[in-house]
Amino acid sequence: MSKALRLSEKWFRRGLWLVALVFASFLIGLGGTIVGDLPKVEAPLQLDDFLDRNAAQALRAQVKEARQAEQEAQTALEQARLQHAKARSETQAERETFSNWLAARRATQRAEHDPEVIARTQALDALKAQERRAQQAVQAQDQALLDARQAAQAAQQRLGRLEQGGYEKMAAERRKVELRVFLYRLALTLPLLVAAGWLFAKKRKSTWWPFVWGFIFFAVFAFFVELVPYLPSYGGYVRYVVGIVVTALVGRYAILALNRYLERQKQAEALPEQERRKELGYDVALARLAKGVCPGCERLVDLKDGVTDYCPHCGIGLFDRCGACGTRKSAFARFCHACGAGAAPSGTASPGVAPAGAVPSGMPPAGVAPTGTPPQGAMPGAAGNR
Ligand SMILES: [Zn+2]
Ligand SMILES: [Zn+2]
Repeated sequence: MSKALRLSEKWFRRGLWLVALVFASFLIGLGGTIVGDLPKVEAPLQLDDFLDRNAAQALRAQVKEARQAEQEAQTALEQARLQHAKARSETQAERETFSNWLAARRATQRAEHDPEVIARTQALDALKAQERRAQQAVQAQDQALLDARQAAQAAQQRLGRLEQGGYEKMAAERRKVELRVFLYRLALTLPLLVAAGWLFAKKRKSTWWPFVWGFIFFAVFAFFVELVPYLPSYGGYVRYVVGIVVTALVGRYAILALNRYLERQKQAEALPEQERRKELGYDVALARLAKGVCPGCERLVDLKDGVTDYCPHCGIGLFDRCGACGTRKSAFARFCHACGAGAAPSGTASPGVAPAGAVPSGMPPAGVAPTGTPPQGAMPGAAGNR
C-alpha cells in the first residue's frame, strides 16, 4: 500500500482506507444491532414458571395474611401496654394516698373511721383488679403477636423452600438458554470470520480491497469483541481456542509467504539484469530507492556516495550515464535529469548488465560504465504489483 509514489494516489489510498474503516464501522453497527436483538428469540425466564404455581400463590397469601395479623397484633399490643401502664400508675397513686391516710388514722386512733378504711380498701382492690385485667390484655396481645410472627415465619420458610427448588430449575434452564443464544451468535459470527479469512487470503489485493478490508475488520471485531459480553462461562475457551487457531493460520500464512518471497527473490536475483528490470515496476523501484535499498534485492545500498553504480549484493545497475549528455543518472529514471533526453531502450549494449547469476565480481568497475544505452525495462508498463 505504501508503494504509491504519486501524491494524489497516496491520498486516494488513504481515502480508500477511510472507506474501509467507515464500511467496517457500519457493518459493525448493523451486526451489533442484530446480535443485540438475538436474545429476544428466547422468552425471558420467570421464577413462577418453575414453581407449583397454586402452592406458591397460596403460600404467598398465607405469608401476607400472617404479616397483616402481626402488624395488627403489634398495634393492639401497644394500646394494651399503654392501658396497663395507666392502670398501674392509678393503683400506685391510690396506694400511696391510702397508706398516708392509714398512718394518720393510726395516730388519731378514731374508731369512727373504720367504715372508711373498708371502703378505701375495697376501692384499692378494685383498682388492683383493673390493673390485672390490663396486664392480661397485654399478655393476650403478646401471644397473638407471637402467633402471627411464627405463622408468618413458617409460611415464609415453606415458600423459601419452594422457591429454592424453583431457582435451581430456573438456573439450569438459564444456562441452557445462555448456551443456545451463544450458539446462535457463534453460528452468526464464526462463518463471518471464516469468510474474512478467505477474503484475506484471496481478495485483499483486488480492486475492491477497501470493502474486503472493511469486511475483515468487521468480522474480526464481531467475533473477538462483540461476542464477549454473551460468552457463557466456558465461552472463554471457545474464544481462546478460535483465537489460537486463527493466529496459527495467520502465522503459517505469513511464514509461507516469507519463504515464497525469499524464493522468488532468489530466483529473480539469478535472472539476467534485463529481465529483472522488466519485472521491477517503475513505482516499486522508485519507492525502494527512496528508502535507500537496492530495488533488485532490497538490501541496503549507499546511493549517495556518487560512485556506487551497481548493487554490491545483487549486481543490478543502479546508475548509468545519459546517452545524450553523459551525465551520471539513476538507471531507473525514464528521462535524464540533466538534459531531459529519454532513456531510450536500446536492448543491445545494456552497459549496466551484470553477468547472469549476479556475481558482483563480474561487474565492470564503477565509473567505467559506458555512456548511453541505459538498460531497457526501466519503464515497465506493469505497475507496481509486487
Ligand atoms: Zn541489489
Ligand atoms: Zn542527459
